[in-house]
Amino acid sequence: MSVGETALGHLPLRAVRFPGKYIQGPGAIRLLGAEAKRFGSRAFCILDRGIAEALRQKIQSAFGNQSELSIVTHGGNCTMTEIASLEGHASKYRSDCIIGLGGGKALDTSKAVANGLNLPCMVVPTIAASDAPCSALAIIYNEDGSLDRAMHLARNPDVVIADTNIISAAPARFMAAGIGDGLATCIEANACRASGADNTFGFQGLELAFAIARLCEDTLFEFGARAMAECREGACGVATERVVEANILLSGLGFESCGVAAAHGIQDGLCELEETHSSLHGEKVAIGILGELLLQEVESRTFNKYKSFMEKIGLPTTLRQIGIPSATHDKLHQVALRACRDGDIIHNEPMPVTPDMVVRVLRELA
Ligand SMILES: [Zn+2]
Repeated sequence: MSVGETALGHLPLRAVRFPGKYIQGPGAIRLLGAEAKRFGSRAFCILDRGIAEALRQKIQSAFGNQSELSIVTHGGNCTMTEIASLEGHASKYRSDCIIGLGGGKALDTSKAVANGLNLPCMVVPTIAASDAPCSALAIIYNEDGSLDRAMHLARNPDVVIADTNIISAAPARFMAAGIGDGLATCIEANACRASGADNTFGFQGLELAFAIARLCEDTLFEFGARAMAECREGACGVATERVVEANILLSGLGFESCGVAAAHGIQDGLCELEETHSSLHGEKVAIGILGELLLQEVESRTFNKYKSFMEKIGLPTTLRQIGIPSATHDKLHQVALRACRDGDIIHNEPMPVTPDMVVRVLRELA
């Protein structure tokens, strides 16, 4: 029984969850020190090793000399070992808050560390490649790099700072992947609504969450291509601002509070194949979206609308483009079995989904 079903009467409980504060704009990182000071004088900062050197100076100057600050470099993966080790360092430092800066794995590690120590958490995404930063989930990996599980955290980050100067200077491929992840949000929200499935924390979503998911999709269709053009020039303009908001905030609120379905179910299945590991999460979600639309048997006009938009953005639309040149039955069956595990998110679709159906739609995307 889900949490939402404990309601008295026949109407379910509905819920949404949010980060405490979300700040976005060019140069927003300069507010890091002032925001951290609200939680106390000692901040423990976990910095993505990929951008450590580029950001260290910016972080130090954001803190001035007014706060104590400890900066450590993230090990690269979000494992229980990494989390335990950083928890040890942070409590030895007697931190008042945990700050994570970087991509998804560094941010998820920081959220898990803050959760473990029951400390306030601030995150600074340096790419807009997924909708993970605002959520109360951390994706935990095994030491060998395979997926372990999603850790459910007690609360969402207290502060999210999206500096669009930093984000728009990153390779355009990250922005495209975030658009892929964001494009799934409304489609999956609608699937959950139609089936009555719960969101990621066991309730049905409130209307507000569905309105946010709709705004996310509308924003991406309107500003996605222009934002990609700006990003390729390394320029941060109005379209970039709108798409960063959609990729990080709107999609984050939407997926968490409305629920996820077949697009993410298929991406989870695709992760079973080693050859997809060099593709980004949002690139595999893009394939998942097309698979979901085929499962739903939408009109070809609707399918083509999403597919041609993805092509315009530079997202993959075939299995070949995510590293699977020969889509054998065995491989597709392996993906389908993982996607269709009992109780998994693919069953949030309004129609029953079987492994055979998944193999059939993936074959159409070969
Ligand atoms: Zn996602």
